[in-house]
Amino acid sequence: MAATGPALPAGAVTRFAPSPTGLLHLGHAHSALFGRALARRAPGRGRFLLRTEDIDAGRCRPEFAAAIEEDLAWLGLEWERPVRRQSEHMGEYRAALDRLAARGLLYPCFCTRAEIAREVAAAGHAPHGPEGPPYPGTCRRLSRAERNARLGRGEPHALRLDMAAALAGTQARDLSFEELAEGRIPADPAPFGDVVLARKDVPASYHLCVCHDDALQGVTVVTRGADLKPATPLHRLLQTLFGWPEPLYAHHALLADAAGRRLAKREGAPSIRSLREGGHSPAAVRALAGFPDRR
Ligand code: GLU
Repeated sequence: MAATGPALPAGAVTRFAPSPTGLLHLGHAHSALFGRALARRAPGRGRFLLRTEDIDAGRCRPEFAAAIEEDLAWLGLEWERPVRRQSEHMGEYRAALDRLAARGLLYPCFCTRAEIAREVAAAGHAPHGPEGPPYPGTCRRLSRAERNARLGRGEPHALRLDMAAALAGTQARDLSFEELAEGRIPADPAPFGDVVLARKDVPASYHLCVCHDDALQGVTVVTRGADLKPATPLHRLLQTLFGWPEPLYAHHALLADAAGRRLAKREGAPSIRSLREGGHSPAAVRALAGFPDRR
């Protein structure tokens, strides 16, 4: 039991929300087992959900989504069905974006990556945000006439959050989040700048969809890797703007190999499938993923 920080809520709803861009590896298995462990540990027994975060059709594949479910089942996990697949709900994300647009909090951005890079370089030493240098705001300053003309011509555009306008609302001041075992942590989303909430190629974004779905699915404990902890201040802002409930956060340390290197896919972490084909048992893989069975 942690000395400080909030307790797990009774009947906690946790989740594992992979993007099916490849096979499940040990780091993913750790994350999934972590979500399940917290649901099990919650007073009154919690619930564990699986969600497929596949809005990026260019990178996600249905065969990987199927393989992930198969590998998780082989590992001994169970989850509620049907599994929510984000790609089937694009209209809901669109409706959420419309709500922000109606409040004047979104604007279309026609810039290419190269244009943004040039502007950032020209501006000199711009502060670095959690996702790189914040957007310089070029399209925020377009006149209404030019904006409408470019929209009228069907120019491809992203939708960006007007961060200053969003923060001007009194409800968005003094944000914080509650981290299991740590307690309340101040959250300042301003360094994100005018983040993209709908991409040019995908009419939604990770940040929007993850907050939307955690709220819709009644997730009360957001269980995920510490690599996503820096995104939490922005998620708290989105939850506040939409009036969605505030979940508790439980970020787990990323699984490292014996040499202390992060077990990420690109660094050659073994897939669950290769371990299984190499003769490992589910219990052996659970142990490798940091969750040995209790004796
Ligand atoms: N879909 C995200 C990923 O695979 C995780 C989202 C989350 O847990 O908040 O990295």
